[in-house]
Amino acid sequence: MKPDVILCHYGEIGLKGKNRSYFEKKLQKNLRETIKRSMPGSFTSIDRLYGRIIIRLNEQGQNKISTISALLKNVCGLVYFAPAVKTEQDIGAITQLAVEMMSSGDYKTFRVTSRRTDKNFHVGSQKMNEDVGAAILKTTGKVVNLGKPDKTCFIDVVDGKAFIYTEKIRGQGGLPVGVSGKVVSLLSGGIDSPVSSFYMMKRGAAATFVHFHSVPYTNEASIEKVREMIEALLSFQLRATLYLIKLAPIQKVIMTETEAKFRVILYRRFMVRIAEAIAHKIRAKALITGDSLGQVASQTLENMGVIDEAISTPILRPLIGFDKLEIIDKAKEINTYDISILPDQDCCSLFTPKHPATKAKLIDVLGEEKKLNVNELVKTALESAVIEKFD
Ligand code: ATP
Ligand code: MG
Repeated sequence: MKPDVILCHYGEIGLKGKNRSYFEKKLQKNLRETIKRSMPGSFTSIDRLYGRIIIRLNEQGQNKISTISALLKNVCGLVYFAPAVKTEQDIGAITQLAVEMMSSGDYKTFRVTSRRTDKNFHVGSQKMNEDVGAAILKTTGKVVNLGKPDKTCFIDVVDGKAFIYTEKIRGQGGLPVGVSGKVVSLLSGGIDSPVSSFYMMKRGAAATFVHFHSVPYTNEASIEKVREMIEALLSFQLRATLYLIKLAPIQKVIMTETEAKFRVILYRRFMVRIAEAIAHKIRAKALITGDSLGQVASQTLENMGVIDEAISTPILRPLIGFDKLEIIDKAKEINTYDISILPDQDCCSLFTPKHPATKAKLIDVLGEEKKLNVNELVKTALESAVIEKFD
């Protein structure tokens, strides 16, 4: 018996008061586009129904349920989903189907958990639990365990239909990508920044990416890595734009004009200025970095403060309190880790001094920066931007 629908549940969205319908519509749209992209022609409809979204599968979709499930696991905003079999709102039909579904599988104990959203249906959920449970027990000989069953038979009665399923699959949770607005994410090619982008997507932000490179002083490896990372992140966000920016001209001026120990901070101040200009252009409200407190010299509280001062747009750092190992685990989960560890030539390590300042003072950094024509350098870098689209 193949599931013919997938019931999608989205906890947090339900709490959002009058924005609720906006969130639901976004989730519905993201679900539709996600499935359409990889599995076109596998469903007949995706509808909202009493706090759920119901994906109705056609025969092709029913045969590819595990592929579709793998896609749904990455759709932000879904708390869980359940491949289910649909039947009429009739206690005989429900019982027969439930017994059939519970007749296979290796398990000892079970329970029935019914929910009745449709109060027109004359059988209450407690009565349904008891009657269907008794029928399953009689046919299978399995033992009822209400507390900690091996297997649960879920019955949802909603909108004139009944949906029966035995498995709830956990989704990402969070909010549908797009409902929180746009952010500009600084993607370096390392381990941290794609993970920080992921966490923002999960909170409903749509990320536009910017990568700074030092080609021709480095090879193009970091650019290729960033492209691959974005491809991987497209399983959470359907499309993305990447801005590739030449940092080398700025680095050269910084190297010749300023004191070595402030270089990394000066590079970073330029990066965030350029990223802020992109944010203004696309109406993004914040920048995102993969900084984690104390991880490297540029990530002390003092230095982050000096970097923040360069712009007025907020710089969000989703990984600030994470340990490296926690970040690595997440990177593996979202399939960016293997890309991140490929060798490259980091734009900053090439021009990094041996002893970067770990507690830079703003006044000193501003003093160094006075030697540079900041606006002109930012403008030239922006003019060199190469824009790539991913979908
Ligand atoms: P990551 O693993 O993300 O590279 P990291 O531990 O190497 O982080 P840094 O190199 O200090 O840390 O970079 C801190 C953050 O600054 C990065 O997470 C990223 O958001 C941003 N960043 C650094 N270099 C670049 C770059 N070349 N292009 C875009 N963003 C960058
Ligand atoms: Mg890095």
